[in-house]
Amino acid sequence: MSDVDRREFLARVAAGVAAGSLPLAATAEQRPANVSSAARTLTAPAFTPLPLGAIRPTGWLARQLRLQADGLTGHLDEFWPDVADSQWFGGKAEGWERAPYWLDGAIPLAWILDDAPMKARITKYVNHIVEHQRADGWYAPYPEDAVAKRYDMWAILLANKVLAQYHDATGDARVLEAVKKSLRAMALGLDRTPLYNWGKFRWYEGLVPVFYVYERTKEPWLLDLAHKLRAQGVDFDALFATEDLAVPTPRRGLWKWTKHVVNTGMAAKASALSWRLDQRPRDRVWSTEMIAFLDRHHGQATGMFSGDECLAGKSPLQGTELCSVVEFMYSLETLYSVFGNPAFGDRLERVAFNALPATLAPDVWSHQYDQQVNQAQCTINPDHRWSTNGPESNLFGLEPNFGCCTSNLHQGWPKFAAHLWMQTPDAGIAVAAYAPSRATFASRGVPVTVALDTDYPFRETLTLTVSPARAARFPVVLRVPAWAKGATVRVGAGPAQPMQPGTLHRLEQLWAGTTTIAIHFPMAPVVTERYNGGVAIERGPLVYALKLGEMWTRVNDAKPHRELPHGDFEVRPSTPWNYGLVAAGRTIAGLTFSERPIGAVPFLPDGAGMMATATAKRIPSWRLDAGWAAEIAPTDAAWADAGRTVTTEPDETVTLIPYGCTNIRITEFPRLV
Ligand SMILES: [Zn+2]
Repeated sequence: MSDVDRREFLARVAAGVAAGSLPLAATAEQRPANVSSAARTLTAPAFTPLPLGAIRPTGWLARQLRLQADGLTGHLDEFWPDVADSQWFGGKAEGWERAPYWLDGAIPLAWILDDAPMKARITKYVNHIVEHQRADGWYAPYPEDAVAKRYDMWAILLANKVLAQYHDATGDARVLEAVKKSLRAMALGLDRTPLYNWGKFRWYEGLVPVFYVYERTKEPWLLDLAHKLRAQGVDFDALFATEDLAVPTPRRGLWKWTKHVVNTGMAAKASALSWRLDQRPRDRVWSTEMIAFLDRHHGQATGMFSGDECLAGKSPLQGTELCSVVEFMYSLETLYSVFGNPAFGDRLERVAFNALPATLAPDVWSHQYDQQVNQAQCTINPDHRWSTNGPESNLFGLEPNFGCCTSNLHQGWPKFAAHLWMQTPDAGIAVAAYAPSRATFASRGVPVTVALDTDYPFRETLTLTVSPARAARFPVVLRVPAWAKGATVRVGAGPAQPMQPGTLHRLEQLWAGTTTIAIHFPMAPVVTERYNGGVAIERGPLVYALKLGEMWTRVNDAKPHRELPHGDFEVRPSTPWNYGLVAAGRTIAGLTFSERPIGAVPFLPDGAGMMATATAKRIPSWRLDAGWAAEIAPTDAAWADAGRTVTTEPDETVTLIPYGCTNIRITEFPRLV
């Protein structure tokens, strides 16, 4: 943060205008269930996110964000035409979702890290968008006849969400005005041509900027626009009740809007945003039901659901698209904010610490389109098993399969960091997710710093310090993960108090000087039953997978824009991968965990901060040279077979590491006797 930025930010905090400016009295319990249209207002969320820049990552999280800024996110606009030469920035390349997608992650990354060169470039791009907005409110990439023509509203919904973030980071009034002008044009446009295709399936993305502007202007037409977007958009509650979304899309199956995995990840937050409009009781429960439905029919060990690129069932061989990972994370951040339900925070950590880092290369220069929970190798494979994706989908590359993830992956870590802490309605602070960080907020005008020093999720202990500028009474709300049986908290020199797993634990007192709070979340190993009788191993928020030796081979080097360091790579195992675990029921033989130093690159096989060992046997019938299914991992038949068979192979000790540290892996193992 520059001195000017810092002065401005601290002034905002001191004036209490940062996050505390929402109507604090409007909680769920204090409002009638049905609000008439005449009395339209916006219900405050349970917890309010802090403005961008108020949370600073430290420890391993700071290193991870720096890798991202030094990797693809900090450089994509310098060489990849769909961003570098975007029509949004005055160029000739793509003028739809890609530049806004990149900004959606680059803005929070640049302002969280206070990265001056990135901030300067982003400011130049945003200035171009704002300065080239037409008098009628439409942004420049849209055709001159946009007013009269039918077109999909999706990229406008996205662009306004992005520009609202920029305003949050900078307070630039021109940008807020541009968003308002665009939303007015949208309100008129929707009367002429109602939402269809992407806009219809992603209508709730538009509520994010609508709510943002409403909270700052209180202009009632914005809520009319929100109602209009909802009325024209897909009703996901009805969709999940009527459409057979439980059925996995078959191999080479039909691409369907209704089963599109990215739409699904985004839509998980629709009911939370909708609930803020009029508190329909159904909206309060639907997201939980939707996630349970997805777990039942498409759930993966990482907390994600499959989709390659439509919902694809529970097999660990199916793919999960990177876009759906980052979108589901943002949905969970929104759900936790609006409803304050700790289960959404638990799920957020599970996805953030497992699915996200695993599908990015450790140096964050390349990524996969589809990750597999069991991914013995990543190669160009025309005989792949995806439902509708292409043969390059699980390469680590610049734009494997399609460039959406290339432009959209950036929001994952920065938005996670920006949502670690949230403000409570009674001037306190709540933890949404645990990671090393420091946050500054105002409690009734008193500036407060909270800091979390920890190597969680690689460790069980966390040290939280609370430092108000002067003595103040406010709550500190701790999310106690549902898995943390025996969790305790100790304030200062006081006694250790038990905390109930799966609840919010409230510490309220007069805070003065610096108070240290010691938190312990015991991480007991858990063995879960998975697809076809397989087992997966978890401990705390981390899933564990077989550590494999890796051979990286550069491919596609003649394709444009694949100059190193942003090349394409196949990854093959250099050590055996075809293991089952020796197990009796849910007891895994020889399972022990040990701490390791956390590497400079936090999510690298050799930098894994935790490891486990277990007793395993080889399954010689699993081979990588026997066709499309066996190439990637065992066929379903072999899988079930192995689970029943007493093998004569000798016992071996295998090493397991956190899933997020692997690039190739086996995670769901058959049980052997
Ligand atoms: Zn994608």
